[in-house]
Amino acid sequence: MVTVEERYEHLEKTIRGYNISADFAQIRAAYEYANAHHGAQLRRDGTPYITHPINVAQIVAEMRLDSESIISALLHDCIEDTDSTYDDIARLFGATVADIVDGVTKLTRVTFSTMEEEQMENLRKMLFAMSRDIRVILIKIADRLHNMRTMEYQTPEKQKKKSFETMEIYAPIAHRLGLARMKWELEDLSLKYLDPVAYDEIEKNLAADSAEHNQFMGAVQSQINDRLAELEIPNATVYGRVKHPYSIYRKMYTQDKTMEEVYDLFAFRVLVDTVADCYNVLGVVHELYKPILGRFKDYIATPKPNMYQSLHTTVIGEEGFPFEVQIRTYDMHAIDEYGVAAHWKYKQGITKEGGEGTYEWIRRLLENQEDADAEEFIHSLKVDMFADEVFVFTPRGDVINLPAGATPIDFAYSIHSAIGNTMVGAKVNGRMVGFDYQLHNGDIIEINTSKSARGPSRDWIKIAKSSEARSKIRQWFKRERREENIAQGRASFEAELRHAGISMAQITAPDVLPSILERVKFPGLDEMYAAIGYGGYTAVKAVNRIRDELLQMSRAAAVEKAAAAAAAAAQEKREEPPKNLPRRVKSEKGIVVEGLSNCLVKFSKCCAPVPGDEIVGFITRGYGVSVHRRDCPNADPNHHTAANQGRWIKVSWGEDVNESYSTGLEVVCKDRPNLLVDISTALSTCKVNVSSMNVHSTADGFAIFYITISVTDAKQLGQVMRKIHQISSVMKVNRPAG
Ligand code: MN
Repeated sequence: MVTVEERYEHLEKTIRGYNISADFAQIRAAYEYANAHHGAQLRRDGTPYITHPINVAQIVAEMRLDSESIISALLHDCIEDTDSTYDDIARLFGATVADIVDGVTKLTRVTFSTMEEEQMENLRKMLFAMSRDIRVILIKIADRLHNMRTMEYQTPEKQKKKSFETMEIYAPIAHRLGLARMKWELEDLSLKYLDPVAYDEIEKNLAADSAEHNQFMGAVQSQINDRLAELEIPNATVYGRVKHPYSIYRKMYTQDKTMEEVYDLFAFRVLVDTVADCYNVLGVVHELYKPILGRFKDYIATPKPNMYQSLHTTVIGEEGFPFEVQIRTYDMHAIDEYGVAAHWKYKQGITKEGGEGTYEWIRRLLENQEDADAEEFIHSLKVDMFADEVFVFTPRGDVINLPAGATPIDFAYSIHSAIGNTMVGAKVNGRMVGFDYQLHNGDIIEINTSKSARGPSRDWIKIAKSSEARSKIRQWFKRERREENIAQGRASFEAELRHAGISMAQITAPDVLPSILERVKFPGLDEMYAAIGYGGYTAVKAVNRIRDELLQMSRAAAVEKAAAAAAAAAQEKREEPPKNLPRRVKSEKGIVVEGLSNCLVKFSKCCAPVPGDEIVGFITRGYGVSVHRRDCPNADPNHHTAANQGRWIKVSWGEDVNESYSTGLEVVCKDRPNLLVDISTALSTCKVNVSSMNVHSTADGFAIFYITISVTDAKQLGQVMRKIHQISSVMKVNRPAG
């Protein structure tokens, strides 16, 4: 029987083993404080309660954590189970320790009532989200490990529930933090309660053969040792072990094998000083035993996502037993055993200030994780550190993930829109709260609904933090209040229309309404009013579009009319149009159209004229005048049909041309390296904007560039063309047309 004091002495000794400058005075003070507060409390196994925190601190010390971690571990159940408070602890041991203890307490209070697979990842994330300081989660894992070690004294239901949680939540977290030893112990202990029959079978088999196993392992160990001594590889440690029950169990179940068939029951480890020695030892092992092909893994060159490093090989011994050998340096071994967390702190030298704030090492660790699931994990962890998310529970125990600052409204709508729409009240952890209450990690939310609820209020859109809730609330207004929305929307639309000087009759005329509706993209006016009413569309936007459409329609009508008149005149007189432009009128886009003012003008895509080019115009049906270069094949008078004859009209460049015109160039070159760079350079020295550049390479070694640029006029365009022509291997520079 070990006394409490002896346990504590052992703890101190462990700490002294890795951190001689630990704060032993405060550690002892914490022990005495916890001891006094837990008082006469007993654990289920009949030992004084204080043995639990001491054992948890022992595990934390084996992880080589700092003084604050040890102190927090000793105090971790004080707030939860005694009359001690956060303030007491903060006063006696500092705010950091109080925060860690408080964090562990919060994690302890989280109850996992769900068993659903898809909830597990969320639960793991939630634990991280709640642990502002990574030491919180390390202490919580240590706490869970000690509870699992003493689980036999609990009721069968509690054993199953805690084991399930451990297997699904804590063992994976331990794995991700690189705590290999804790991970497998957590798994073995969980298996013992989750599948006692299989666990017993494995244990019994291992025990029955243990003499044989030990003899075999002893033989291999000395063979390797002898050979390493001969080769004078210094400071090597060799040891063998039977693989742990859960890893055997998994192989039996996933590969459907009996225990005898499980491939490699044994694992050996060789620890050496240097990486070079690792590879030397590998040579020795492969020389002594026959390696199994395809089983060699070099995790030294390519570490695992959790920074695990080692050489793995599986070989066959003399008796035909296959076994695995892991070869690594002492350094790598420390990382595997204690986790990157502990090792990193250890390496950095443990300082008193416990500056865990930067999370530097955990970022480094997590950034090394590469599989998709880890990717997601990293993302969530980073997000959590910057507090963008909050994880809360439904009364059933499902975890709901919401943006930080979320309210009961967000929660209700994330469950179902019907819950949100009929919500009349909300409870958080059993207490009524307002709809604008900010949810915290681990809160349990209950929503009260009523069939006679009036539905959401418009204020909810402002209170809600998630876009999901906001859009569902808008949906509701859209659907449920259609009549009201139409009336409200119609009123604001008509006001806006009057303001623009347009009458209702103007837009409802049968030849106008269809184009108007098409322009605003609604099937009917009521739909448009409804959208304006619930806020999905604005009256201003609608009226602007309608005004544009009316303007365009009236211009098109004017052009149409002029074209008809011109065509009629040409038909009658069969005269050439007059040579001189009769009068200067205000130009459109820098183009003066003979006899027409203020008509729609567009530049034809086929030849893209620029100021200075000789041009002609063509009166299109409904889209105003299209301007072509006179040398464009499409404007060639020989191709004019009789019907279109009258539509060709004189146009010229006005005095108020625009600043830039878009046009195309075609450059034919002999292909060579850097051609693209040279052409780009030429274009930029000419100070023209390039909006697109495409290259086609031909099989016979030519390259054709199609370039779209903006120029002010034909003069500038000419300069650009000359500049490109000067580039070596450029053969031709054209303006495409037709
Ligand atoms: Mn505890």
